[in-house]
Amino acid sequence: MSITNHPDPATLISFAAGTLSEPLAAVVAAHAAMCSCCRREIADMELVGAALLLQHSLSAQPARSGAAKPLRGRVARPGPGAAHAVARDRLPSPIARAYGLTFATIPWKRLGPGVLHHRLPLSPGTEGDLRLLKIAAGRRMPEHGHGGSELTLVLDGAYSDETGTYRSGDMQDVDESIEHTPVADQNAGCICLIASDRPARFKGIMARLVQPWTGI
Ligand SMILES: [Zn+2]
Repeated sequence: MSITNHPDPATLISFAAGTLSEPLAAVVAAHAAMCSCCRREIADMELVGAALLLQHSLSAQPARSGAAKPLRGRVARPGPGAAHAVARDRLPSPIARAYGLTFATIPWKRLGPGVLHHRLPLSPGTEGDLRLLKIAAGRRMPEHGHGGSELTLVLDGAYSDETGTYRSGDMQDVDESIEHTPVADQNAGCICLIASDRPARFKGIMARLVQPWTGI
């Protein structure tokens, strides 16, 4: 698998520190299950974090309660066998384990013509949105912006937008400064895992996705 688009370094650092929001962390964990490069980077960052914590404790200061918190929520970090599990099933093992799903058992619901989705539940009280999205071949999405951070991981097929083409394993890491018009691959379509840390804005995006078809 040739992965050319990875999370921003700042996103990886937040993930390694345990401070990334639950839906965004779920997508990074899924990407890491598919990407040995990011698994190594996360491990290195965790070593640096551990060294800093050790240095901090040796300075006789009380450890900060918020430091090095474990990843919150349902989705755990990918284990050693994660990449193999992805190769068999195409659904990254952190997502498969957390939600008891396989690629073949995703309970898709229709969102609009050529678009299916399945929303993944988050821990109670957690803000944000995490869902699987299946887009038919050649389907063009309306241009949209973002209220906060949005992470998209391609699980199967591909899509393109103004910034490039994203294939299986690739992640697009965008913030509110980005507006784009994704188009699913003309032959394979696209199945992706997408997360936002701003639920209201994401609902807005979903509304924009279906607006041309529903007329709302
Ligand atoms: Zn990566």
